[in-house]
Amino acid sequence: MIGLPRTPSSKINRANPSTPGGSRVTEENILVTVRMRPLNSREHAKYDLIAWDCPDDHTLVFKNPNPERAATKYSFDKVYEPTCATREVYEGGSRDVALSALAGTNATIFAYGQTSSGKTFTMRGVTNSVVKDIYEHIRKTQERSFVLKVSALEIYNETVVDLLNRDTGPLRLLDDSEKGTIVENLVEEVVESRQHLQRLIGICEGQRQVGETTLNDKSSRSHQIIRLTIQSSLREIAGRVQSFMATLNLVDLAGSERVSQTNADGLRLKEGNHINQSLLTLTTVIRKLSSGKKDHIPYRNSKLTRILQNSLGGNSRTAIICTISPALSHVAQTKKTLSFATSAKEVTNCAKVNMVVSEKLLLKHLQQKVAKLESELRSPESSSSTCLKSLLVEREKKIQQMETEMKELKRQRDIAQSQLEQERKGKEQKVARCLSYTAQEESTPSKSVPRSRRTSRVKRKDNVRQSLTSADRTALAQEIRLFEKNQKKLGEEANQALDLIHKEVTSHKLGDQQSAEKFAKMLSEIRDMQKSNLIPEETVVGDESNLKEEINRLNSEEIAALEKKLETVQKFIDMLASSYQTDEETPEFRTQMKKKRVLPFGLSNSPNLQHMIRAPCSPLSSSGTENKAPESNVVSARDSRTPSKEGTPVSSSRQANSVDVKRMKRMFTNAAEENIRNIKDYVTGLKERVAKLQYQKQLLLCQVIELEGNETAESDESQMEWPLCFEEQRKQIIMLWHLCHISIIHRTQFYMLFKGDPADQIYMEVELRRLTWLEQHLAELGNASPALLGDEPASYVASSIRALKQEREYLAKRVNTKLGAEEREMLYLKWDVAPVGKQRRQQLINKLWTDPHNTEHVKESAEIVAKLVGFCDSGENIRKEMFELNFASPADKKTWMMGWNFISNFLHL
Ligand code: ADP
Ligand code: MG
Repeated sequence: MIGLPRTPSSKINRANPSTPGGSRVTEENILVTVRMRPLNSREHAKYDLIAWDCPDDHTLVFKNPNPERAATKYSFDKVYEPTCATREVYEGGSRDVALSALAGTNATIFAYGQTSSGKTFTMRGVTNSVVKDIYEHIRKTQERSFVLKVSALEIYNETVVDLLNRDTGPLRLLDDSEKGTIVENLVEEVVESRQHLQRLIGICEGQRQVGETTLNDKSSRSHQIIRLTIQSSLREIAGRVQSFMATLNLVDLAGSERVSQTNADGLRLKEGNHINQSLLTLTTVIRKLSSGKKDHIPYRNSKLTRILQNSLGGNSRTAIICTISPALSHVAQTKKTLSFATSAKEVTNCAKVNMVVSEKLLLKHLQQKVAKLESELRSPESSSSTCLKSLLVEREKKIQQMETEMKELKRQRDIAQSQLEQERKGKEQKVARCLSYTAQEESTPSKSVPRSRRTSRVKRKDNVRQSLTSADRTALAQEIRLFEKNQKKLGEEANQALDLIHKEVTSHKLGDQQSAEKFAKMLSEIRDMQKSNLIPEETVVGDESNLKEEINRLNSEEIAALEKKLETVQKFIDMLASSYQTDEETPEFRTQMKKKRVLPFGLSNSPNLQHMIRAPCSPLSSSGTENKAPESNVVSARDSRTPSKEGTPVSSSRQANSVDVKRMKRMFTNAAEENIRNIKDYVTGLKERVAKLQYQKQLLLCQVIELEGNETAESDESQMEWPLCFEEQRKQIIMLWHLCHISIIHRTQFYMLFKGDPADQIYMEVELRRLTWLEQHLAELGNASPALLGDEPASYVASSIRALKQEREYLAKRVNTKLGAEEREMLYLKWDVAPVGKQRRQQLINKLWTDPHNTEHVKESAEIVAKLVGFCDSGENIRKEMFELNFASPADKKTWMMGWNFISNFLHL
């Protein structure tokens, strides 16, 4: 066959239209069918011939009356003979395209052809079928809910008119980035039912501009577009907020004939031009699209193409029904239509399923969720709440985990408690050991305390506070007994001293009558005292834990008696010394000296005294154990050692004959003075030890009281109140220090050392008791009979003040060496010391520790004194042991002595 080119069948690519919507994205060509109407009455009247033949459903052949000319054959998707009903045309392809809108794919059905070719006739039928099928589909698809809206417009002379609301006048086209071209203010009616839709479509039909033409009286001269918008979503499935939404355009175009063929007047010519312009643009767009050239497509050249842009090569399935007249008289125009149809077949569209999110549905969905959550919150035990369930499970797990951890902690606590208990028991045993003097310690003069013992003493102070339990009762009882042992030893030593004095007095028969009487009286007194020197038998106590008995023994007056005895001994020594000083001036003395050639006190005969006057407790001793009881077996004389600083005069007996009396006299005087000093020192040492014994007694009493207190009071309330208690006690102590003229070095040491640690409680209490006792003692002395103690009470206070003065002088000497020049000046300024003067150092020191009421003053005083004597809080030479319950010797003898010797002085020992 020769003639117009055929459309190759291979180019026809159709999506399977069996399921509305098909695949989600469908690329397919425009469906093009040709419908040939029957000859109308007019054509019959003219005896017009049928120029076209349909050999099959896809082919249309022009029957050329000239047999010499070849027949022209056209192929399309479908070709419908004049006898075919509109329903068949519709079902032959258009239906599937149209109904794809029900599944979210845009669709467009065109009717293209010359005037009176049957476009309106066909589209009317197609529209009716579409409406019918849509509602049929909705009826059958109950699971989805559909929303149909309808709008209709007419493009007449390139003017867009709303067919459902013609009163609004011409409508503008707007470009929307998402939706493309939209018609402004176009009414879109929601369709309530099939009938409602049909009625609305009917209205549109009535509104069409119908004009009369020579070809078709009822032929429309406008383009009509009925647009259905179909939205559908599943009814039941919760959470689905998306829905299909698509438009279906049913387009009935105006006639495609040439203007010249309309044979119309001016007005109609104008209409014809316009009609052709839209059609020409449509033709151009189709031709361009079909050529495959994707350059400029002139959609915007007409309103029709703008509105239908998606349908022409865009997101839409499109079917074009070309209507033709079979009459030979219209062959040329028919060929033009078929030419257009042929081009249209080449146009490819890319249709896709339009899924939309409905705001309304979304809102509804969210509201439902909120309502559900609210109900779950109101009933947290709701089993439907998986979220809460998981939370509960998690919480349960945590509780279990915590329970396990708690069990483990309890177990660890029990272990720790049992360990603590064991350790405590061990400590108690240790305390018992530490509190006790061992025979070894007693008899071994040791200058330094073994480290282990020091450590144990440090621990002891805590132990004393913390663990005075029944085990301590025994330890304390033992301690008391050791105390008694010491007391007994001191008593023995005092007796020895008394014996020596007795011997000396007996041998000393020099002097005048008055002296002889005095010595006789003294001797008598000594003998009386010796008679009463019955050392009590060792106390036998059955039950060591019976502290009451121990306390009673402690409260005995033995120490007081011992003190008195020593006082007396000292008095005798003084008397002896003074009598000697008198005697040495007499001729008898000189004669005796020549004859006897011995020292006045007969040191060679009194080896014990030699030792005793060198007793380690003597403040003048350069060696020894100050706080140790002297050895009981120290009877061996050390002849190489003499009490004289100037050497021994004993070895020079032979030479004595040749020396002059004056020299002898001086020698004896020196020796005698030295002996007097030494024996006095020895007795002073004894007294000091007795004082310490007294203090130890106080401490023991404190311990007993505390132990009793601990046993009666179970709660440790005192610990709770300790900070306040400490402050109060410290105030009292500071005041008592001041009142008793206590050594300011001792004050400083104590102040710096005890700063409120709960473990310090015992020391604070002991110090307070001691000072209270001292203060009372001094007060009693003030009221007591001077004869009782053999001296004026006022002199005790005076000597205390004197000792304090000496201490201040000692400290003043250290100002320049211990403080820098700048520091000194600052202190002078701060303490209001005159800027110029000789005694500035002394002035400064004299101001220290003078205001017991002023806390700051006390603190600063302590700091200055601490610097001057070279100790600080953590200094090695200041230790709590100094104030310990045990009177072991501290490492620093000076510090110790300064503390205790002064106290001894205050006690007038
Ligand atoms: P158009 O809209 O293309 O101008 P119409 O649809 O108005 O033409 O048709 C013109 C006339 O032809 C109408 O009277 C119509 O009834 C009639 N007609 C068109 N097509 C057919 C057909 N296939 N079968 C019977 N009558 C038809
Ligand atoms: Mg028409």
